[in-house]
Amino acid sequence: MTNLNHTPSGNRLHIGIFGKTNSGKSSFINAFAGQEISIVADVAGTTTDPVYKPMEIHPLGPCVLMDTAGFDDESILGSRRMEKTAAAAEKADIAVILLAAQPPEEDGVFSRRFGQEAHWYRKFKEKKTPVLFVISQADLCSEAEAFAAWVHKETGEEALAVSAKTGDGMERVREMLARLLPEDLEADSITGDLVSENDTVLLVMPQDIQAPKGRLILPQVQTLRELLDKKCLVLCVTTDKMVRALSWLRQPPKLIVTDSQVFGYVYEQKPKESMLTSFSVLFAAYKGDLPYYCEGARFIDSLTENSRVLIAECCTHAPLAEDIGREKLPRMLRRRIGEALSVDIVSGTDFPQELSQYDLIIQCGACMFNKKYVQARIGRAKEQHVPMTNYGVAIAHLTGILDKISTGC
Ligand code: SF4
Repeated sequence: MTNLNHTPSGNRLHIGIFGKTNSGKSSFINAFAGQEISIVADVAGTTTDPVYKPMEIHPLGPCVLMDTAGFDDESILGSRRMEKTAAAAEKADIAVILLAAQPPEEDGVFSRRFGQEAHWYRKFKEKKTPVLFVISQADLCSEAEAFAAWVHKETGEEALAVSAKTGDGMERVREMLARLLPEDLEADSITGDLVSENDTVLLVMPQDIQAPKGRLILPQVQTLRELLDKKCLVLCVTTDKMVRALSWLRQPPKLIVTDSQVFGYVYEQKPKESMLTSFSVLFAAYKGDLPYYCEGARFIDSLTENSRVLIAECCTHAPLAEDIGREKLPRMLRRRIGEALSVDIVSGTDFPQELSQYDLIIQCGACMFNKKYVQARIGRAKEQHVPMTNYGVAIAHLTGILDKISTGC
């Protein structure tokens, strides 16, 4: 296993490749990546579901290339494919829109070649997603550069003519993508300014029935790695060893990070000098919108038995006994609000477009998804005026300690 396999997908730069069927997306992506990722054929619409390929691309670093179905797909399966392409668009940190090189119409006009692309371009701009236009198959058309110049003039965006066959223009694409890299991508930190070098941090991680066998879950691994990078002194314990670990320390830890499910117990046992937070709350601030999540959690108090709650889990794992999203949270909510409360559960990317039927959305820590996609979900909830929170913030509120933990809100 090489090093690049160690960067979790949620932390990789997501580059989406979009365009009409047979605009040369798959050939482009294979040439760009230097290997066969997507199936290439002359039959229109070869790519059905998006193909996600994690890889290291110099000078961009760890990336995920997303090859999507053509956005003019009118087949029977077309609308389902479009939903998947739209989900990929929400994840894209940078969008590459491909147009097959073509001469202008007889009257010298290029604009009639630029309909659906313009529509998707506007959608990306609304979401503040950087866009690069690529005019593909330049080896087949002597007007490719003129077409690129026209697209650049129309949109103000960079447009590059390339050939997947000869490799011409591919280096410029890499350089241009590096220039379009969103500035905030590397800047974020999971633990923010809560701790710094030489601070002691206690991580409480119950290895109970829900914990995957033989490994830690991603939020725990990523938090631990970041704390080590920050040169903190880190102690990891299961819940039953927390009191013993505290008694061994000469001074209380500066910060205790716990699994949300044992929030109440850890809060009761912790030294008053130690700050307390959870992995889920840290991820709420890291990828989500912590003030919005805190507001959403407080909205739990307004729910009634007629309310409807959506629980959105990003993993598609088989549910285990006492699963937090499928069992514990619904039980805690029903205990508080009443047994008749409706709770719908979705997983993976099956997050509904229409949210107005819900009174509250509770999202998991979303460690598997990139920030752009989590922000897209939050944006949709805000647009439709539906309160949203995440597991950790909701549990902190339900256990009465939201105001006592280190959330920053
Ligand atoms: S359920 Fe959510 S927070 Fe938990 S491991 Fe999966 S993606 Fe991460």
